[in-house]
Amino acid sequence: MVIIKVENLIDFIAEVFGHADSSPEEARRIATYLTTANLTGHDSHGVIRVPGYIRWKKIGSVVPNQTVEVLVDTPSLAVLDGKFGYGQTVAPVAVKLGIEKCKKAGLAAVALRNAGHIGRIGDWAEMAAADGLVSVHFVNATDSLLVAPFGGVERRMSTAPYCVGIPRQGHDPIVLDFATSVVAEGKCLVASLGGKKLPKGALIDSDGTLSDDPRLLYGPYTSDSTRDHTQGIGAIRAFGEHKGSGLALICELMGGALTGTGATAANQRFANGMLAFYIDPKVVDPANFFDGEVTRYTDFIRATKPVPGIEQVQLPGDPERRIRAERTKDGIPLLDDTWAAIVNTAREMGVSETDIRQATS
Ligand code: NAD
Repeated sequence: MVIIKVENLIDFIAEVFGHADSSPEEARRIATYLTTANLTGHDSHGVIRVPGYIRWKKIGSVVPNQTVEVLVDTPSLAVLDGKFGYGQTVAPVAVKLGIEKCKKAGLAAVALRNAGHIGRIGDWAEMAAADGLVSVHFVNATDSLLVAPFGGVERRMSTAPYCVGIPRQGHDPIVLDFATSVVAEGKCLVASLGGKKLPKGALIDSDGTLSDDPRLLYGPYTSDSTRDHTQGIGAIRAFGEHKGSGLALICELMGGALTGTGATAANQRFANGMLAFYIDPKVVDPANFFDGEVTRYTDFIRATKPVPGIEQVQLPGDPERRIRAERTKDGIPLLDDTWAAIVNTAREMGVSETDIRQATS
């Protein structure tokens, strides 16, 4: 295990993308968002993705320094084409536009199609909440055929995340942000590299047997740490039985079909589609009942008598806040294999040995 200071990690990852044709601004943006995923405890969506992103860049699946194209523009609605630019570049443009439209109209919707991997969806809800807005995000991921619907053993869906952000005056927002599968694929990747084990029954074999073995997704492991999710014969299960499976389907239809990205299938070019709604509580509720009611109700929830072994009932966003505070202070822990794979990629891209050494200083 290596522990890397947050600023060092951002600088180092920015070097990698700077050597991969991204502008200095884009390189730093990708590095910052990936590191933020680690900071908030979502290692599956953090710097572990660097080798994969660079692979996508090499085969032309993701395009550096891309500009978003506006396809539909009304006072309360926009449809944007990310044209396979890095998600960290095109998603903030879409969210910013949603915020601007919502500030004028009280309500806005923005459909973003063909974005590169947009990472942790909570980032986008936090961005809207920082401007005082509620937001709801439906997302899918093409070419990520990973998840079996309730009652099935074959892959038909992506891990299709769903996210809602609720701003609170004087407090961090409530951010509910999850994959609609029992686990996000990145958690299978982390488990396959020796990290945290998967919960039992996260995966399903082609004969319907429940399992926690990531090989069902990736097939037999290769000697390096690359994993190919098309090689396994099993699937991740949709969370929450028929209800979660239904929500995953809705994410595919809203984030995939309605944005124009396409619902998930095999042999597509990777893209995230995101349909997001933005609501300004100040317009809905000029008497400002909402904020006080959010506080009253969340206090009521927190005060629930906990089950044995749990200190206190938490709100969505609490675990991320706690881990962010810890890792900001102590640094970001990375598994040796994860770090070795990132360093290999950095070397391939021509990052200097001095920069590599400085990352861990
Ligand atoms: P998860 O299972 O860790 O759940 C996270 C959510 O549950 C958060 O809102 C968190 O605050 C809340 N939570 C966790 N423990 C809690 C507790 N004890 N009490 C109350 N609330 C609690 O998340 P996941 O499904 O593994 O997803 C991880 C990340 O992966 C997310 O950020 C998601 O957006 C991202 N993701 C992205 C893509 C993509 O294609 N870009 C695809 C799938 C997932």
